[in-house]
Amino acid sequence: MSKALVVYSGGQDSTTCLFWAKKHFDEVCAIAFDYGQRHIVELEAAKQIAAEADVRLNIFKINLLSEVSHNSLTDNAMEVETNQPGHRPPNTLVEGRNMLFLTYAAVFAKANGISDIITGVGQADYSGYPDCRNEFIKSLNQTLNLSMDYEYHIHTPLMWLDKSEIWQMADELGVFEIVRDQTITCYHGIQGEGCGTCPSCKLRNRGLIKYLKSKNNG
Ligand code: ZN
Repeated sequence: MSKALVVYSGGQDSTTCLFWAKKHFDEVCAIAFDYGQRHIVELEAAKQIAAEADVRLNIFKINLLSEVSHNSLTDNAMEVETNQPGHRPPNTLVEGRNMLFLTYAAVFAKANGISDIITGVGQADYSGYPDCRNEFIKSLNQTLNLSMDYEYHIHTPLMWLDKSEIWQMADELGVFEIVRDQTITCYHGIQGEGCGTCPSCKLRNRGLIKYLKSKNNG
């Protein structure tokens, strides 16, 4: 029987991955992290959706991430940047986050006899986050194999999809409404449609409009 672990956050991308995993593997469980994010409601959404999907969700605290460096997703004193600065990633970047998440996920996976790990990172709508790039995932996969002497397969079903294609995938998986209404992608922690003005909402909503347009025309 095939088993997989999804790195989960309760957002649009990882929720789509959760249902993608359910389609491709016999048994799916999920892992989420409390890393000191501003909006703990994200984890509440994650719990709610995982329960509906009948997926066991394991939540772990790794609060050190918000202490060793500062970014606007963990530091309430910092304003979320609404425009992408040209010369560096936006201040919503949590340095090292995907590497830490995937490393903890890999340790957990091995302990549970799982070698397939799914993550919702992608580089089509590249937001300047270096740890969303395919090159990084391939490199980390190799490093994890070596570090634990284990054959991991990190799957990135969204790697080359833009937001409208991710909406399409959710629709094809039959979970369009769940993703639209219950996930939290907004940097201000507002469920579903979100605030509409933060960079994450803009990207999400632009993709949704594009997808619905192409669907109605097709
Ligand atoms: Zn927002």
